[in-house]
Amino acid sequence: MATERFNLDGRPIKPMTICMIGAGGFIGSHLCEKILYETPHKILALDVYNDKIKHLLESESLPWGDRIQFHRINIKHDSRLEGLIKMSDLTINLAAICTPADYNTRPLDTIYSNFIDALPVVKYCSENGKRLIHFSTCEVYGKTIGSFLPKDSPLREDPAYYILKENASPCIFGSIEKQRWSYACAKQLIERLVYAEGAENGLEFTIVRPFNWIGPRMDFIPGIDGPNEGVPRVLACFSNNLLRREPLKLVDGGQSQRTFVYIKDAIEAVLLMIENPARANGQIFNVGNPHNEVTVRQLAEMMTEVYAKVSGESSLEEPTIDVSSKEFYGEGYDDSDKRIPDMTIINRQLGWNPKTSLWDLLESTLTYQHRTYAEAVKKAVAKPTSS
Ligand code: NAD
Ligand code: UDP
Repeated sequence: MATERFNLDGRPIKPMTICMIGAGGFIGSHLCEKILYETPHKILALDVYNDKIKHLLESESLPWGDRIQFHRINIKHDSRLEGLIKMSDLTINLAAICTPADYNTRPLDTIYSNFIDALPVVKYCSENGKRLIHFSTCEVYGKTIGSFLPKDSPLREDPAYYILKENASPCIFGSIEKQRWSYACAKQLIERLVYAEGAENGLEFTIVRPFNWIGPRMDFIPGIDGPNEGVPRVLACFSNNLLRREPLKLVDGGQSQRTFVYIKDAIEAVLLMIENPARANGQIFNVGNPHNEVTVRQLAEMMTEVYAKVSGESSLEEPTIDVSSKEFYGEGYDDSDKRIPDMTIINRQLGWNPKTSLWDLLESTLTYQHRTYAEAVKKAVAKPTSS
């Protein structure tokens, strides 16, 4: 690991200190691993939880020694935040409420978390001349232009009506009573603020728009390592159904389309941004895999097939069941119809391309889910419910 590293322009990369906020989450845990395993950089890891990075923190005899330091901090109210940003060369902000089940049921928490709580981070970076990589979302695009065309319009097939481009596509959200869009709207406003800090005050920033990154350690399995009634994102919802041998629930027929990218591919893109500031500063990057597009129904079918293969268990006769969005998410839910990232900018600036097919990434992820949870789920299912 001690060998010298070079950036995309052939210049040596100096070791840096990274203040990573939300380091204990899904993306943070993979980013911490990548940085510790493959680079000489130091991490100040901030989060309210650290379960997903425990394996990186537990022993001082670990090969990366003291290159990671965990600070249990809630950025809503902690005076240590500015000091930690000042001590670092770069701040990466991942902290957010980012599960759709919360957007319409906890809209205030969602807006505060994604906009208000991020404000001091942007301010401290700007005032102290520190670089910021801010995590936004592909959800800022909202719905595609094509979704407003008549169902039989041939224009729906024209990429101009659905491909999402960082610097050209509009952000199209539903009405205010559709509280689903509270998250997208808060993320959009913080993007605009970061961008304005760049334009008016010279903040060096990069904005990342992840398109459904999935893999091991994403969210939680309800009743095992998360609340019984909790509703995680689709990968964990479907994993939970498969582990419990229940039909997978398709919201409003599972017709929405998504492109899924393997977390390990996506993390490569983030490392390129970290180590190539001259190419990444001032940019907004889509990070996704346009080749891995499926409807949610197709995702359910593929996960059922892959899970049967990795677990050795047969599939249910009726592997899916339809539910209405009102029943599943409650009042105020709405959905993005289709999400295909344009890859021109990330290709041109960083030469990054995703590698892993949907089948392969589901195979490694569901192998992990089975290994990690199958026993615990069996025990939980066998236990008589306490009255
Ligand atoms: P995650 O929920 O697993 O991680 C977020 C982490 O932030 C959690 O560990 C949480 O404890 C921490 N956090 C939240 N509020 C905090 C606070 N006030 N103080 C300290 N820590 C706090 O989510 P993730 O999937 O890792 O997402 C990370 C970022 O990427 C988020 O900003 C999210 O909006 C964005 N994003 C992710 C995806 C994806 O595909 N995973 C898609 C779009 C956007
Ligand atoms: N979804 C579903 N069943 C579930 C969970 C989610 O049909 O058990 C759908 C959801 O309505 C959306 C898609 O799967 O159309 C992706 O949901 P996710 O929670 O991953 O978040 P999103 O991609 O909308 O941000």
